[in-house]
Order: sequence, then C-alpha cells, then structure tokens
Amino acid sequence: MGKLFASFCMYPAARRGRSRPAVAAVGVVYQDRLFQLHHALLRPGGEVILSAGTLGSPQLLLLSGVGPANDLTSLGIPVSVDAPDVGKHMFDNPRNGISIIPSVPIDHSLIQVVGIPSANGTASYLEAASYIVPVSPMLRPAGPFISPTSPLYVTMATIMEKVPGPLSEGSLWLSSPNPVETPSVRFNYFSRPEDLAQCVVGVRRVAQVLQSRTMDIFRSSVGSASQGRRGHARRDFRIVGATLPLDWSTNNTSVADFCRRTVATLWHYHGGCVVGRVVDKDFRVMGTQSLRVVDGSTFSVTPGTNPQATVMMMGSRYMGLKMIAERHSRRQVNTSSYNELEE
Ligand SMILES: Cc1cc2nc3c(=O)[nH]c(=O)nc-3n(C[C@H](O)[C@H](O)[C@H](O)COP(=O)(O)OP(=O)(O)OC[C@H]3O[C@@H](n4cnc5c(N)ncnc54)[C@H](O)[C@@H]3O)c2cc1C
Repeated sequence: MGKLFASFCMYPAARRGRSRPAVAAVGVVYQDRLFQLHHALLRPGGEVILSAGTLGSPQLLLLSGVGPANDLTSLGIPVSVDAPDVGKHMFDNPRNGISIIPSVPIDHSLIQVVGIPSANGTASYLEAASYIVPVSPMLRPAGPFISPTSPLYVTMATIMEKVPGPLSEGSLWLSSPNPVETPSVRFNYFSRPEDLAQCVVGVRRVAQVLQSRTMDIFRSSVGSASQGRRGHARRDFRIVGATLPLDWSTNNTSVADFCRRTVATLWHYHGGCVVGRVVDKDFRVMGTQSLRVVDGSTFSVTPGTNPQATVMMMGSRYMGLKMIAERHSRRQVNTSSYNELEE
C-alpha cells in the first residue's frame, strides 16, 4: 500500500445497544505510487489496524475526524469523535552527548547501552556509538586537529545519556487538512525540572567516563596537555561539537545549560494515542468500532533503553495472537448460532 490518506471512512455504526460507539471504521483511503486514490473496504467483522507510528497514527486519526473537536472544526475536518487526547501526551527522551575523534582506530558500532547509573534516586541510560563521518571541507584546512592532508572521513565516537521516562509532555497537531502535509510536533524538552535534573546527573556521568584512565588511549597525541587528577600531564580529547563547561563537576546551572543547548532526540518518541486516553486496554480507539491502534503511539513510557523489540512483541506476539483468538471465538459463536438455527 502507498501513502495512507485520511484513512478510515468513519460512518455511523448500527447501534444495537446503548453503549455501542456511534461511529465505525469501514475502510481506508490511500494513494498509490502513481498518485491514484483507492478505497479499501473492510469485510464484515473486519477491523482497521492503524500502525503508522507515533507521528503517523495520531495524524491519521485527526485526519479521520477523531480528535479534539475544536481543532478539527477550525481546519474544516468533520468531527467523527471528539477525542481531546489524540495527539496529546507525546514524549521524547532527551539525549545529550559528547563526541570525540579517537586517537586510535576503533570498530564502528551501533548505539549500545554501556550503563544505567543512578544517583539521588534518578537513573539515566548511558549509551555509546562510533561511526564514520565526513570531515567538513570548512574544518579540513583550518581545523585545530585535522590537517589539510587528513582523510575525507574520520571515525567519531559519541558517549551519550538518555533520560528515561521523561515527564515533559508535548503534542502533535495538524497544520492543514491535507494528508500529505507533515504534522507539527513539539516535545517541550526539559519543561519539567525533574527531566533537567536527570540530564545533569547523566551528563556528569558522561564527563566522569571521559575523565577515566580507561579512556586515555583515545586521547589526542597532538592536543594540549592538561593536569590529570593525580597531577599527571594528560592529553585532551579531540572533541567534536559542543564541549562541557569547565565547572561541570560542581555547577548544576552550567551543566543544565549544556543540556538545553545540546539536546537531541534518540528517536524513541512515543505517545499521542496513549492507552487509557485514546485507546482502551485492547488498543481499540475509544468511541469507535472496528478501529485499533497498535504501535509506539500507545505508550506513555518507552520500554527499556531501546523500544523496538517491545513494539514488535506487542504487535505480533501479543496483539496479533489475541486478535486471532478473538476472531476464532467469534467464528465459533457464529457457527454454533447457525447450527442452532439448523436444528
Ligand atoms: C533513526 C532511528 C534509529 C532507531 N534506532 C533504534 C534502535 O537501534 N533500537 C531500537 O530498539 N529502536 C530504535 N529506533 C526506534 C524504533 O524504530 C521505534 O521505536 C519503533 O520503530 C516504533 O515502532 P512503531 O510501529 O510505533 O512505528 P514505526 O516503526 O515508525 O512504523 C510506522 C510505519 O508507518 C508508516 N507510515 C506512517 N504514516 C503513514 C501514512 N500516512 N501512510 C502509510 N504509511 C505510513 C511509516 O512509514 C512506518 O513504516 C530508532 C528510530 C529511528 C527513527
């Protein structure tokens, strides 16, 4: 399938009981690679399972008229369900790190967890990665560490910390009813002081790792020498990008400022269709029939250091098996009612 467009056509559902939701998803609208629009309609008893991720799923619900009624109305989108929490409670774990060019060759590696230190009751995840980066032409002729004869690419290593379970909340909203337009998102990093305090703890730990003797082999052979903790002359790191404040070990304010200046994403953003607010415990969109969201947008906390395995287990192993069992039991009920009619 190509680009999912506004998605499910929401139609008034046949109400058999008072408590049944008034609208039901009946299919999806999508555009193929040749920009042709298609409608794919559900078979009886079928469901639309939305798995467009943290940025895609709330966007598609909003485009389908499931979201805060005032926002939808202001964009001219007909309201199917007034669901104020769609696109709300969005979280992204702030990442801050220090990047160095090691003085010895090292293997390239994906981001890996290297520790979960805790201090004063707060934990942060320390992760590290090394990768090859092009040397900017502007840096090459004049850079302090990179001579004009340096290679075009260098290996860079980053030690970073991620704040787990951030409390700072953001939101996602549509700028237009056009489905090909990217929605707007704001994560409001460090709007809660608790997250900033955790970042300070984590960044300080990164600095301590860099100061450790173990890291000496990665220090520059051409940088200036500084006094180590025991008075030994030690070379500096070839740091790329932002450097830590000199008073990092004692000054919370300067480290907090570093956190704010250098914050980046670790791409573990989640929320927007959170369980208990937008979907129920079976991942059904509340106020609708035949519509579920099964992806990271339903999380209010990212699981562990890296979320992908949990998202996959939730989708295929947990929800997939559960839905197969539900359909199986529905078929059995239908068959037994049919047999009763036959007798
Ligand atoms: C650069 C990067 C690196 C990462 N590295 C790691 C890692 O090393 N380990 C780890 O555990 N996690 C990693 N993650 C996080 C992980 O990928 C996500 O947590 C996980 O994929 C979320 O799963 P999901 O099903 O919610 O969404 P996604 O995996 O994002 O799936 C959503 C899908 O829906 C599609 N989609 C969205 N909108 C539409 C539309 N309108 N029409 C049609 N299709 C649509 C998207 O193209 C996408 O294929 C990384 C993420 C990024 C961005």
